[in-house]
Parts: sequence; structure tokens; C-alpha cells
Amino acid sequence: MSFFAVHKLTIASRLVLINGLLAAAIVAVSGMAWRDLDVQTAAAGEQSRLSEAQRFHQDADTLHDGIRADVYSAFLDAELSRLTPDQIRTNLHQSTARFRADLDRLSKIALPPDIHASNEAVRALVENYISVAQETIELALRSQNEGARGLPRFDSAFEAVGAAMEAQTTALSTRVLNAERAAESAKATAQAWIVSAGLAINVLVALLVAFVSRSIRGSLKRVRDNARAMAKGNLDLRNNVISRDEVGQLAQSIDAMAGNLQSMLGQMRADSERGAFGNQLVEALEMADTETEAHQVIARAMSAVSPQNPMELLLADSSRAHLERATAHPTAGAPGCNVESPFSCVAVRRGNPVVFADSEALNACPRLRGRTCGPVSAVCVPVSFMGRALGVLHTTGDIGVPLEGDQVAKLTTLGIQAGARIGTVRAFERTQVQASTDSLTGLANRRTLEYQVRDLLTAHKPFALVMADLDRFKSLNDTLGHQAGDNALRQFADAARAAARETDLVARWGGEEFTFVLPSATAEQGLEWVDRLRTRLAEIQEAAGSTVFTASFGIADTTMGQSLENLLRIADAALYCSKDGGRDRGTIGSATLVAAGPKSHPTEHGAQVNLRLLANDHA
Ligand code: GH3
Ligand code: MG
Ligand code: MG
Repeated sequence: MSFFAVHKLTIASRLVLINGLLAAAIVAVSGMAWRDLDVQTAAAGEQSRLSEAQRFHQDADTLHDGIRADVYSAFLDAELSRLTPDQIRTNLHQSTARFRADLDRLSKIALPPDIHASNEAVRALVENYISVAQETIELALRSQNEGARGLPRFDSAFEAVGAAMEAQTTALSTRVLNAERAAESAKATAQAWIVSAGLAINVLVALLVAFVSRSIRGSLKRVRDNARAMAKGNLDLRNNVISRDEVGQLAQSIDAMAGNLQSMLGQMRADSERGAFGNQLVEALEMADTETEAHQVIARAMSAVSPQNPMELLLADSSRAHLERATAHPTAGAPGCNVESPFSCVAVRRGNPVVFADSEALNACPRLRGRTCGPVSAVCVPVSFMGRALGVLHTTGDIGVPLEGDQVAKLTTLGIQAGARIGTVRAFERTQVQASTDSLTGLANRRTLEYQVRDLLTAHKPFALVMADLDRFKSLNDTLGHQAGDNALRQFADAARAAARETDLVARWGGEEFTFVLPSATAEQGLEWVDRLRTRLAEIQEAAGSTVFTASFGIADTTMGQSLENLLRIADAALYCSKDGGRDRGTIGSATLVAAGPKSHPTEHGAQVNLRLLANDHA
């Protein structure tokens, strides 16, 4: 591991590494110091042995002189020396014994080989010296002259031993001095090692601590700055710290936290955007009073879901057997799904949005295959109202790139709201139609006609008003039955519808009575229209081979009266004239006719305006 890869270690590992390096340095320094202490100890030991040797050597040196004194005491007369020959011999014997003992002890001390060798040489000389001394003493005790003759030999032996011991003294002194120096030097070296190693370790530890703390501080500072920036809202920022230490782990945790916050914010933003989209959509659809207007809103909403994906709304017709395109994306157009019925659509069947990433996949909707644009991705959202399928929202995209989750959510919202509005509008229109239509004939009812006439009168638009009453209908009912009577009423309604223009209003007034409003027509034109109707009725009856019945008509127009009540009264009086004149005809009414004629045609449903209704409407 390179030194620079230290940032990959945890902080604890770095501290352990520092500790390890420190321990290794201490072991190395201790080893070196130990070695020098050993040297010092060895030198001190040698020094002590040499000192002991010196002590015996000095004692031997003294005995060397003592033997000489013993020898010379044999030359003094007995009176002067106060020693007997036996005492002299005993002294010599003791001196030589101690001399030998010292030399023996000296030779047993562990000393350098050269010292040992010189010691052995001294011992050899000493033995010679002792035997010469004994001979010389015996000669001197026998005769001074004989002894004097032996003295030169004794002196020369004495000198030889003295010289050898002198040399040994010098050697021992030198050795002691060297041992002292070696001990001093080893001590100084050990001290130097300890001091310099202490300094070196101190510097090393300081460098390592500085390096580690710098790397930690550097990383922490970066993480701190990034965390501050994130706290201020910059959630795109990432630490991207590659170190595996605790700081790196902290940075990774902060990065993960920022990522989570970002995705949560994104989710919240998407939710609020979707909520805003949903609210706008609901408001826009609320303003759509008709299904066509709702389709326009839905088309605009498609652009908001996706500006570039082709999209279409397929709706079932009234039979709910066929799906047809109701609207498409205003700019991207329609993807063109050929599904025929709601039941054939997978999304409608499942009742949930369906996403197909690839139209060629085994489980893709079969309607997506074989399109001229090639393989696609698709999203289909069912459109329903109160659990009843109305159709489907269908969109396509590039293969493998279907709408994103948020767009699918928006499309789902669009599907729900579109279904709710279209269902509501359809239900409302159905109620409206039911409220304004006569259920038996499908014609407008009296109430509708009253509204229309009111509008025409308010706008001062001229029109002719025709009242019709089937002739002898009671007897038809009585003779052929009520069902036949109902069929006759439907037949008359068909004839009236066939005779009417698009702008004419054909209404069942009640029972077997009908009222027609012919905008822009005069009473004369109204009479022509009545004739056309009578002709058409006869044709229908002939074609159907059904019972023949006729009707009588009374006609008025806005030149005769300016209120619905007046016009009805005039037309009613004219109708009575037609009945009175033999039925199966039309009569143009007039104010004078009302004044002169019979009070009114005995209508069951009162040829007068529903004043209460009109009053309500005006309010
Ligand atoms: P007139 O030529 O004078 O008008 O004779 P009429 O028999 O038509 O006259 P009247 O008003 O007395 O009879 C109307 C009959 O129409 C009475 C009623 O049984 C019948 N009627 C009214 N509404 C309906 C309906 O909805 N269905 C059927 N089948 N008959 C109806
Ligand atoms: Mg009638
Ligand atoms: Mg009638």
C-alpha cells in the first residue's frame, strides 16, 4: 500500500498505523540502546576483573620485594636481624606461599589471553626466583661468603621477575583504562541513541499526526462546505469523496440524504404539478357545457400531458358497441388505434392504465402491432363514469420510451376527469332531452315549445303558429284499442316531422293535440304547410296500410297577436272552425274570428299559455 493511499484507511486504522510505526521505532531504538548497554556492561565487568587482578598483582609485587627482604635478612647476623635461621626459613616459606597463592588467584580470573600469557611467564620466573631465593638463603645461613657468591644470581632472578611484573602492571593499567573508556563510550552512545531516537520519533509522530489531521480536516472542510450549500438548497451538489474513512462514509451519507431529499422534493413537485394540472383540468371541464366543449378541453390537456406524443380519445357510441375517435392531440395528432369496441380494449377490460414499452413484446396489446409507423411504446388509460366504460385515452411513443411515470399519472388524471365530465354532460343532456321531449312521439313537449315561442317573441321574430287536433280520435281508441291510438299518434308525429323544416318546431301539446311553430312563416304559408302535412300523413298511412285518420288545424301568425296566449286563442278558434267545417282541414284564424265564433275548441289540454311556467322563467 502506497503511503498516499493512506486516505483509503479509516481514521482508526490511520491511528493504529501511527501507533505501529511508533512501536517499531521504539523497538529499533531500544535494540540499539540495549546493544550499547551490553557493551557498557561488558566493559564494566572487564574493568572490575582487571581491578581485582591488579589487586593480586600489587600484592604479588609486594611479596616479590618481601622475599628479597627475607633473603637479605639471612645475610645479617643473628643479633642484628633478631631472627633465627628457622624463622628466616619460615618467613620465606610464608612469603613464597602467598606469592604463589596470589599468582594462582590471578591466573583464575577471566582475563584477556595476552594478560594470561604474561601471567604464566611471570609464574615461571617467580618459581625460578623462589628456588634461587631458597638456595641463596641456605647458602647465606651456612656461610656469608657462600651466600654472597649466590647473590648476583638471586638479584638477576629478582630483576627478571620485577621487569616481568612491571610489564604486567603496565598492561593491566592500560587494560583498565581501555575498559573505562569503552564503558564511557557505550554509555554515551546509548544516551545519544535514546535522545536522537526520541527526537526522531517525536518528529515522525508530529509529521504523521499533521498529515492525518490535515487530510481529515481537508475532507471535513469539503464535506462541511458542501453540506452548507445543500442546506441552502443546492441539492444537485455531491461530495463524491473517494476515501473509505469515516469522513468518506459521512460524505456518502450526506450525498445519500441529498439524493433522497431531491427525489422527495421532485416527487412533491410532481405531485403538486399534477395537483395543479388536475385542478386546472377540473375547472376547465366544469366550464364545458357540452360534450364537444369537453372534447376541446381534453385535446388541450393532451398537450399539457406531452407536447410531442400522438394521443387520442376513443369513445363508445350510444350503443356502447363501437369505439370512435372523439378528439386527438392538437399538434401531435392521433396514434390511430383500430380497436372496435370497449370490450376489445385491454385497458378498459382491466379498468387500469396499461403501459407497453414495446409493441413487439409477447404480452403487448395486439392492436399496437402492424402499425405503419413501426414498433412503438404505448400507454392506454380507461375512461369511465360511475363504473361504466366510456372509452380509452391512447398515446404512443418511441419504442422502449413510453410516457414517464409523472406523465402516466397526468394521463390517468385526464382519464378520470374526462370520464367524469363526459358522463355528467351525457347524463345532463339525457335529462334535458327527457325533460323537453314527449316520450311517446319523441317530439318536443309543450314546455319546450313555450320556451321557444317566448324566445321568438322576445326577439320580435315573426312566425306562424299551427294547432292540430286528431279527428274523432276517441272513437279510434274505442274501436281499435289504445295501442292503435298510440300508433296513430306516432304516425302523425312522423308526418309532422317529415313536413317540418329544420327550423320548425313540432310539439305534442297534450293528448291528441299538437302545436307547430314555423319561424318566418305567415298564416298562409302555415296553411300550405298544413296541407303538406295532411298529404304526408295520408302517404304514410297508405304506405303502412294502417288505419286512416285525419286531423284538423287552426293557424295564426304574429301579425294577429303579440302574445302566445293570444296566438293560441286565435289558432284554437280557427281549429274549431275546421272541426265545425267538417274536419280534415286547416283554417286561418283572426281576431274577429275569436270575437265572433264559438268560445273555443273543447280542448282537453287548454289552449292557453302555462302562465306559471313563463313567470318562473322570467324570474
Ligand atoms: P274530435 O274530432 O272532436 O276531436 O273528436 P275526438 O274524439 O278526437 O275528441 P275527444 O277530445 O273527445 O277525444 C280525444 C281522445 O283522445 C280521448 C282520449 O282517450 C284520447 N287520447 C288522448 N291522449 C291519448 C293517448 O296518449 N293515447 C291514446 N291512445 N289516446 C289518447
Ligand atoms: Mg280530437
Ligand atoms: Mg281533442
